[in-house]
Amino acid sequence: FGVPYDQVFVDGEFVSSDAARLSVLANVVSYGTGTFEGIRATWNQERADLFLLEAPAHYERLERSARILGLALPYPPADLVAVTCELLRRNGVRADSYVRPLLFLAGEQLAVRMHDSGSRLCIPATPMPGDYIDPRGIRCMVSTWRRATDVAVPNRAKVIGSYVGPALAKTEAIRHGFDEALLLTADGHVAEGTTSNVLVRSGDEWATPSGTDDILEGITRRQVTELLSEDFGVTVVQRRVHRSELYACDEAMLCGTAAMVVPIIEVDGRPVGDGTPGETTLALQRELSSIARRGGDRHHEWTTPVYGT
Ligand code: PMP
Repeated sequence: FGVPYDQVFVDGEFVSSDAARLSVLANVVSYGTGTFEGIRATWNQERADLFLLEAPAHYERLERSARILGLALPYPPADLVAVTCELLRRNGVRADSYVRPLLFLAGEQLAVRMHDSGSRLCIPATPMPGDYIDPRGIRCMVSTWRRATDVAVPNRAKVIGSYVGPALAKTEAIRHGFDEALLLTADGHVAEGTTSNVLVRSGDEWATPSGTDDILEGITRRQVTELLSEDFGVTVVQRRVHRSELYACDEAMLCGTAAMVVPIIEVDGRPVGDGTPGETTLALQRELSSIARRGGDRHHEWTTPVYGT
């Protein structure tokens, strides 16, 4: 990520990032009490426009996350999509970028609770040059850290504080010489990457953990599922996935807003398939990055033009 853009949307106003400051006593700083989203914006030079990818879906998920936490999202999702376009226009953004909506407790009471602390809605954005994860394929480690269970921290909500586990897992993986961590559920089934969902192919079957396996159900995974159906006639099965399937599968990928589609070429030192990126994964990667910038005729309903051409 690059240097954040100057203008930030804070509680209904566009302000300079100098003015978008938070007290060190804000409740979220101590307890991670809040929720967030990540939205991709892709610049298309030919169309001279910037396109948000699935912005309404991201704000609808933010609204669901807020409901789970008992917080109120102060604007409806459609208004927040419009605000995001305005934010990017005000910053004159003409490059691939990442938008980070945040809804969190900012009251200065150091109390562990979700109620009676004013919440704030902030939307900063930052340039996103290059790839978040190497799209040529990554080597993964099954983490010794497990995904938090939904009975402890609600997994369907993208909770700020819940990213400490994935952060530990990522650092562990990097320190062991891998690119990314895969987290299992507390009872040992495959859950997801640190900030992405996982899909595996064994023979003709594509499988991915189900929504009750302590994952965040990704918007990118939904897109990948649709493209697999449309382009390859494949129905992705949502079911419990075993760790050993990661070792025995023929193809595997991670997908998420930041990562997009990334081939997994190795898990715990075992090559996935022949150890090179899967053909289908590469095709999906090309297709989704084209759709993100409205490069062709497909799925324009997944993108929102920022400059409105
Ligand atoms: N799982 C986790 C834990 C994530 O943080 C993300 C990124 N939001 C995903 C999966 C992928 O979700 P999406 O495709 O909606 O970005």
